[in-house]
Parts: sequence; C-alpha cells; structure tokens
Amino acid sequence: MRPTGRLHLGHLVGALDNWARLQAEYDCFYFVADWHALTSHYADTGDLVANAIDNVADWIGAGLDPEQSTFFVQSLVPEHAELYLLLQMVTPIPWLERVPTYKEQMEQLAERDLSSIGFLGYPLLQAADVVIYDANVVPVGEDQVPHLELTREVVRRFNNVYFPVPPDAPSRGLVEPLALLTPTPRLPGLDNRKMSKSYQNTIDLADSADAVRQKVRQMYTDPKRVRADIPGTVEGNPVFIYHDAFNPNRAEVDELKARYRAGTVGDVEVKTKLAMAINAMLEPLRERREAALARPGYLRDVLFEGSARARVQAQQTLDRVRDAVRLRY
Ligand code: ADP
Repeated sequence: MRPTGRLHLGHLVGALDNWARLQAEYDCFYFVADWHALTSHYADTGDLVANAIDNVADWIGAGLDPEQSTFFVQSLVPEHAELYLLLQMVTPIPWLERVPTYKEQMEQLAERDLSSIGFLGYPLLQAADVVIYDANVVPVGEDQVPHLELTREVVRRFNNVYFPVPPDAPSRGLVEPLALLTPTPRLPGLDNRKMSKSYQNTIDLADSADAVRQKVRQMYTDPKRVRADIPGTVEGNPVFIYHDAFNPNRAEVDELKARYRAGTVGDVEVKTKLAMAINAMLEPLRERREAALARPGYLRDVLFEGSARARVQAQQTLDRVRDAVRLRY
C-alpha cells in the first residue's frame, strides 16, 4: 500500500479484510510501498513517513498482526531496487507501455507529471517486489491482473537468459507468481463516485464517531426522493450498499429496505442506523489503532524488525540472482 494518505472504508473492504483472513493460511508479506508513492508523487514527500506509520496503525486496527505476518518498508529493503534494475535489462519498453493502467492513469491524473521512467517502470518495480520473496501468490483485484501477467512474462524471460535448463543450471530460477484473485467490491464514496482519497468522499478508519455521523448525514441517496413518503430505490443506493456491507443486523436492513421502497421511512432514520452500524464496526478497529499508536516507538520497531526479516529473504534471492548473472567478484 502506498503511503499517500489515510486509509478508508474502501481499503478495508477492498484489501485489508482479505489480507487479515489470508494470514491464517499463508506466510504473508505486507509492505509500505514508499518508492511506489514517489512514482506519481515525487514532488510531494513531506508526509510519506507519517502516512506510513498511520497506515500501519490501521493495518493493525483491521486485524493484521505483525507477529504473524511480515510488515516492512520497501525503501528499507534496497535489494528491491537492485532486482528491479536487473529485471529492466531484459524488459522491452513496449511491454510497459501496453500495461492498461499506464495509459489510464496518464489520462486520469492529467495534473501530475507522469512522464518519468519511474512511472513507466512501476509495474516492473512491483514485479521485483513480488519475485524477491519467491512469492507463489499475490492477492489482487481485477485491475492488477495485467501487472501479474507482466511479472510472469519478465520472470520467464529472465529465467531463459540467466537460469538455463539443467545440466548447466547454477541454481533454481525466479518463481512465477499467480494472482490470488479477490472479488473486490468497489465501495462507493459519500458522493456515489468510487471512494477515494482524491475525491474527498471517504470515511476514514481513523474518523471519530462524530465525524462518521456527520459524513453519513451528508451521503448521497436516491435523488428523486425529496420527501420521506416517496418510494425510493434501494439498488445501487450507496446508503444501502453500506448497510449491506457494514450492518450485521440483517432483519433491520431488510425492514429498512422494505419501508424505503414503500416510502414509509425517512432518510434520517436510515442514515442514523447506518452511522450506528459503521461506528459499532469501527470501534474495535479504533481501539487497536489507538493502542498501537499510544506505544512509543512501537510501530517504527515493527517496521524496522519486519524490514530486517524481509531483507534476509531478499538477500538470499539476490545472491542466487547475482550468481546467475555472473556478477560474483
Ligand atoms: P494506491 O495506493 O495505488 O493509490 P489505492 O489507495 O487506490 O491505491 O488502493 C489501495 C488498495 O485498496 C487497492 O487494493 C484497491 O483495490 C483498494 N481500494 C481502494 N479504494 C477502494 C474502494 N473504494 N473500494 C474497494 N477497494 C478499494
């Protein structure tokens, strides 16, 4: 995750909930992608470290456990950059130019300068991030599948050049990772566009109960419903998408939907109950987050220790790679 701002409910349903579940089954590596933040925000680095600490507090809030998984900072494991450089040697520029997110982001982020080698190369840096841990799977949404495909193609090419088939093989090649596709629901924001920090339509995991109540009150609902006695539409209505996602009281949700469709409930009641449900869901996250932030130096220690652990593995891979490339002096 890139440390470019606070984490919000979209990150929770789209990534963190799933990451927390995977911990039981896999040896997981989760990292603060600070170099990736630079690919689009190179002129804007003042808050990176503060954001990183704040984001990791939210990871812990969401149930990620640094005892069970490895949390690290990308720039504290500089081997990522060395592997990235070596992968660049075998990667044709058009492979990067045809990654769909490349053109999309250029269009969507027209106000940012994305003409750099750093931005063009970021899917290849991602490839290095993954491959350096001999990762078998990467939990991603649909939009990241082309990046994994690029990773696999680059790995095949790299292995062809540097890890020829036995008997000449000096050691085993890089591992081709698979996408562990997670059905990521796109959570809408308060204004019904995608929830995103760039739209200022988020409910943040760090928001107070009061802030949540206030934000929910301003939420977009069915625009044709100017009075409470007009029948409303539930489907695609963000207030009900949130009720479905965050309110565990199914009976209450079903009853509110029926009354909304019939025009026998006001927005105030629907939203008040939604804010209560979100606050009840967020309360244990807030407690874990605050407890982590309250321990002086704790989150920094977690990141330094995790980075040291990650680095041992990264160095082993790099050793193998340096041997294969015959860069052994
Ligand atoms: P970046 O850090 O590259 O800017 P984002 O902050 O947009 O990316 O997203 C980080 C992760 O959170 C991704 O896995 C993304 O799919 C997920 N995510 C972000 N916003 C939402 C949302 N509104 N709904 C679902 N998932 C989201």
